[in-house]
Amino acid sequence: MLLCDGVSLDGLGQTHGTPLYVYSAKQIRHRFSLFQDAFAGWPFTICYAVKANSALAILRMLAKLGAGFDIVSGGELERVRRANKTALKRVVFSGVGKQVWEIDAALKAQILMFNVESEAELALLAERAEVMGVRARFALRVNPDVFADTHPYISTGLREHKFGIDIGLARGIYRKSKKSKWLDAAGVSVHIGSQIRAVEPFAAALARVAGLVGELRRDGHNIRYVDAGGGLGIDYSDSPAHSTFDPARKVKDYAAALRKVSASLDAHLLLEPGRFLVAQAGALLMRVLVVKKNGTKTFVITDAAMNDLIRPALYQAHHEILPVVQPRRPGAADTAVDVVGPVCESGDFFARDRAMPKVKAGDLVVLLDAGAYGMSQASNYNTRPRAAEVLVDGTVAKLIRRRETLKDLFAPEIP
Ligand SMILES: *Cc1c(COP(=O)(O)O)cnc(C)c1O
Repeated sequence: MLLCDGVSLDGLGQTHGTPLYVYSAKQIRHRFSLFQDAFAGWPFTICYAVKANSALAILRMLAKLGAGFDIVSGGELERVRRANKTALKRVVFSGVGKQVWEIDAALKAQILMFNVESEAELALLAERAEVMGVRARFALRVNPDVFADTHPYISTGLREHKFGIDIGLARGIYRKSKKSKWLDAAGVSVHIGSQIRAVEPFAAALARVAGLVGELRRDGHNIRYVDAGGGLGIDYSDSPAHSTFDPARKVKDYAAALRKVSASLDAHLLLEPGRFLVAQAGALLMRVLVVKKNGTKTFVITDAAMNDLIRPALYQAHHEILPVVQPRRPGAADTAVDVVGPVCESGDFFARDRAMPKVKAGDLVVLLDAGAYGMSQASNYNTRPRAAEVLVDGTVAKLIRRRETLKDLFAPEIP
């Protein structure tokens, strides 16, 4: 029988129903501590990327540990405010298309810094800062033109991507920013993508940023912050590498790679991990509705679907799936099945041709490593209410988001 820390998944399924997201508070705290330990002795702040998992209870927990936050919308700003007001001063605001109301709200909240992604955005920021009568701290998010081996949808550090400003143009834009007394060039930022497994691309990107920081200081800018972005990847697969995946080692390697280039930076380092903190602390619990044979294929149809977790459909992502009762690794005798949801799309699958211990209708199965980009990307596609979420702390399981009802879904509609 599978447990999440001290709590039985079977019991959680019975109490709260399925599909159900289950998170381990202990695991999130542990991941956070890995960064704190690896970067100890540096001036740094971990600005957790809210979009990975934006549950208020998780934000509140991280804020208490001293985390700042990387936000990409006015909605996420409001989440941070509701989770912990004092964390607002540790917020960096990223994103390629910020709206006036979002900029105004962030200026009013006196966030740490705007990560500005275009010259037009910088002009808008200066304008809004003047209207509000406050100076806006900003960093340009530069595009270092570094290749990182990841899925093309989550790679962001190349010139062809919509993100950031060509690093070769940044210096001129910083120079122009001096014309506005409402702009304070406080930092430089970079983010090359997500689910990046090697640490070298992070170091390469930071080395380019370090060069720019030197130039900017010579130009008279008071650069205090370097934002190294997020993107550190985890191991989702059950390959032999899985069992040797050592998160502590990974964060140490990451810190060592950054240290090599940032030792001379003399700046406060901002880190924006999302996935690495929460992905492996979460699982999606679901119940088998039907086991169906079509020709030679066997389909395990579950009550969770792509609207609950879109990663396999969107990124061809791999997630391990285990039966909750009598879980075991698949053996040679196990038949390959497709684990799919009930949504009317052939892209609605969690696993294809996957050897799995036999399951039957009514069984609980659990999809692992679902803590990041799971619930935060969930939708109501097919008019399906979104799942409930539970945060387990030791032996206590707390419902942190109730299951949506049909009434919730219809509330905004005007028939
Ligand atoms: C998505 C994102 C992150 C977090 O990426 P992870 O891969 O989850 O660590 C950090 N910074 C920015 C700007 C992002 O867009």
